[in-house]
Amino acid sequence: MASKIKKVKRIGVLCSGGDCSGMNPCVRSVVRSALYYKMEPFAIYRGYEGMINDEIKPMTSRDVGGIGNRGGTIIGSARSMAFKTKAGRQKAIKNLKKHGIDGVVVIGGDGSFHGADSLHRESDILTIGVPGTIDNDLSGTDFTIGYDTAINVVLDAIDKIRDTAASHDRIFFIEVMGRHAGYIALETGIAGGAEEVVIPETKTDIKAIATHLEQGRKGGKMSSIVIVAEGDEVGGAYRIAEEVAKLAKLPARVSILGHLQRGGTPTCADRLLASRLGLASVRQLKAGKSGIMVGVVSGKIKTSPLNRSWSGHKKVTKELLDLSRILSI
Ligand code: ADP
Repeated sequence: MASKIKKVKRIGVLCSGGDCSGMNPCVRSVVRSALYYKMEPFAIYRGYEGMINDEIKPMTSRDVGGIGNRGGTIIGSARSMAFKTKAGRQKAIKNLKKHGIDGVVVIGGDGSFHGADSLHRESDILTIGVPGTIDNDLSGTDFTIGYDTAINVVLDAIDKIRDTAASHDRIFFIEVMGRHAGYIALETGIAGGAEEVVIPETKTDIKAIATHLEQGRKGGKMSSIVIVAEGDEVGGAYRIAEEVAKLAKLPARVSILGHLQRGGTPTCADRLLASRLGLASVRQLKAGKSGIMVGVVSGKIKTSPLNRSWSGHKKVTKELLDLSRILSI
């Protein structure tokens, strides 16, 4: 590990990877917390791309006024192929040094944390990760920023689709985000009363789903909802619907929620989480810490090594899996 400087004077904050609701209140919190501790905050626009292209500007308290209730991120987010190369990262480090930035807060998901970890290992710049992703798939925190807003958006969509499913006696397969994690599908499935939830963490049994839906029909349940996480090993909602319909011969429809799940006004829970983690990240930098993620575990702020956030493999709980199954008869 590179030896680290002791006292951080200038903090850069960036949003990276897939955007999520709650990034704005987090940026606001980082900027104002830095000012509170007499450090100078800088925005690094468009993620690691902006770090490489020197899109770095000082921020004032007024610059982040009125942004806490807005979805997306006012400083932009991006994916950067160049930052995956050593040459790209060296250019980025040079720019940070040019501005005198000695601490960086990265708001993003596991991909962004791989980048943050490289920055931490390859420079003397202190680097802290703040979990911001709708997938809630990072170890070391019970919730990621953006998750609560996303599940409420999804739940609203499920409720609306159920109106149509019930009116037309149909089975709807609703695809939600979650390439590797089924949290969105499982929790909205339970809250929305789905008959089946299909997620990457459990083996999908098409025959069992078809039998369950058929039995439901025979028992008088004329409409059903199946929530499919996009990353299920069998495939997306179209594939699952096709296979189930083949066996069960039921009138199936598919709805892919797609990108509408990312946006929207951040919920109170997300604004609060974002604000808490923003302050926590600045406090970690003030304490000279680097290479860690800040999170909330059982209601308390906790830190963990960045690399544990993706290697820890946060699991869906048996309790929720049982709950989903038991309530869907
Ligand atoms: P998320 O953070 O939402 O998971 P991505 O996986 O797209 O999003 O990652 C965001 C960015 O993080 C990438 O575009 C890249 O710039 C950086 N990144 C991802 N993986 C690495 C890596 N192994 N090394 C360095 N940077 C990385």
